[in-house]
Amino acid sequence: METKQFQAESKRLLEMMINSIYSQKEVFLRELISNASDAIDKIYYKALTDENLTFDKDSYYIKIEADKNSRQLKIIDTGIGMTKEELESNLGTIAKSGSLAFKKETELKDGFDIIGQFGVGFYAAFMVADVVTVISKAVGSDEAYKWESHGADGYTIEPYEKDTVGTEIILQIKENTEDETYDEYLEEYRLKQIIKKYSDFIRYPIKMDVTSKKPKAEDSEELVDFTEEQTINSMVPIWRKNKSELTDEDYENFYAEKHYGFDKPIKHLHINVDGTIRYNAILFIPENIPFDYYSKEYEKGLELYSNGVLIMNKCSDLLPDYFSFVKGMVDSEDLSLNISREMLQHDRQLKFIAKNISKKIKSELQSLLKNDREKYEAFYNSFGRQLKYGVYSDFGANKELLQDLLMFYSSKEKKMVTLDEYVSRMPEDQKYIYYASGESYDRIEKLPQTELVADKGYEILYFTEDIDEFAIRMLMSYKEKEFKSVSSGDLGIEEDENQKDQNEDEQENKELFDYMKNVLSGKVQDVRVSKRLKTHPVCLSTDGEVTIEMEKILSQMPD
Ligand code: ADP
Ligand code: MG
Repeated sequence: METKQFQAESKRLLEMMINSIYSQKEVFLRELISNASDAIDKIYYKALTDENLTFDKDSYYIKIEADKNSRQLKIIDTGIGMTKEELESNLGTIAKSGSLAFKKETELKDGFDIIGQFGVGFYAAFMVADVVTVISKAVGSDEAYKWESHGADGYTIEPYEKDTVGTEIILQIKENTEDETYDEYLEEYRLKQIIKKYSDFIRYPIKMDVTSKKPKAEDSEELVDFTEEQTINSMVPIWRKNKSELTDEDYENFYAEKHYGFDKPIKHLHINVDGTIRYNAILFIPENIPFDYYSKEYEKGLELYSNGVLIMNKCSDLLPDYFSFVKGMVDSEDLSLNISREMLQHDRQLKFIAKNISKKIKSELQSLLKNDREKYEAFYNSFGRQLKYGVYSDFGANKELLQDLLMFYSSKEKKMVTLDEYVSRMPEDQKYIYYASGESYDRIEKLPQTELVADKGYEILYFTEDIDEFAIRMLMSYKEKEFKSVSSGDLGIEEDENQKDQNEDEQENKELFDYMKNVLSGKVQDVRVSKRLKTHPVCLSTDGEVTIEMEKILSQMPD
């Protein structure tokens, strides 16, 4: 038996790693399973290029075994295995990735998803284990070896008996301490949970013996333990499946399984992009506003996978705030991950994907608007406000993207209409897109200011949400038509004649107006004759940029 030291720098690195790289201990299992999957990918690849080797998919799997008595957790694979030299170089040198070398050597093409690249994942095992033993037999080799390490001190290597090709990793799980518990890593339910969370889409079966209670005999009350081998992971991720093979129900099940929401999504998007940056995504537009949506606790974001392995639960950079209601996941093989695989190193790829996703969500919403008005209105009812905030924020930078998705209540149609619908109905002599703000449609309807515009036969958009007018101000115009509040001074309707009449009327009644101004001093700036009133004697109007409704909102804001 030979005892070897880790290389000097490796020793320090290992200590650092064990204690600080990963934010959660549970990822050790993700790393070991990923390695096992890589090893099977490699033997599969070898079988393709080596006539003496056949690859029978059924005989390739990963098996997890836990034994509470001995506190051992085993991760067994039927992959390519490691020779003595490979055990030394791959596990004895930190930051040496046999997998990365393999990828480079073989110039792997599509269909292979080797995960490893940094050469550190294996050591995550030391977060939960005092002793790590690796028994491995390489393909084409007659001998097997046992590699063993207690952590930073180094490792031993010796010949060992193993019949079949592959690798068995045995973790001697640490005893609980005052601050940390490790027992959970020997619990069946917990292991299943971790596998589901991180490794659900590993392409080979991850098997485990699962024990449950069953009646002893058919009509017996007595329960006995019953153990059977189960495959824990779903293997083929739904996003890698062909869209044509999937039903709405499949997507709905995925939505529920992932706990994206308790509702049924209104719409799903299945995206496969195969350009310079490749990615797959499944996105959902929920039906209902999530219960915590308007609370501080709500976190926007999509799940991020790299090659089928979960990297981040909520990657917020993938979604702009105005699409924060979107749920779903992105899987890409083109991400540059940092060493813990919990963060990304460069966000160039991510930015590209985010931009791409935004565009797709937009066009999906547009097609919903076009093809299923009812559904779109239900969506808009829930999340329209978010889109309006999107227009308002970033100084209108998103207006191109969002303006076609906006809807407002129309005085003429008595229902929600889009700006495009409004503009396409405008009579030729109408210069502006008119709107009126108020608490409710009813109240707005009764506003004296709406009379003249409505009398002209022009349509008015009713704004009942605080954000409406602010968003519209940011848009300024739509299809070259400016927005105009019905309470603004110049409506663009009064004709020259009227203007003359108005001046005359004002001169004639100067005394009355001066008197009124005096009485209302400090409350109004001016009292004038208005030609826009039909049945109402008086109305309030503003001259400046800020309308009465906006003033109300601004005065309610905290300083
Ligand atoms: P990475 O997976 O990023 O390469 P790891 O530290 O997880 O780094 O693993 C180091 C290397 O050890 C791998 O690249 C691979 O060559 C080898 N290895 C680890 N686990 C196994 C296994 N189960 N079967 C075969 N080789 C393995
Ligand atoms: Mg690895």
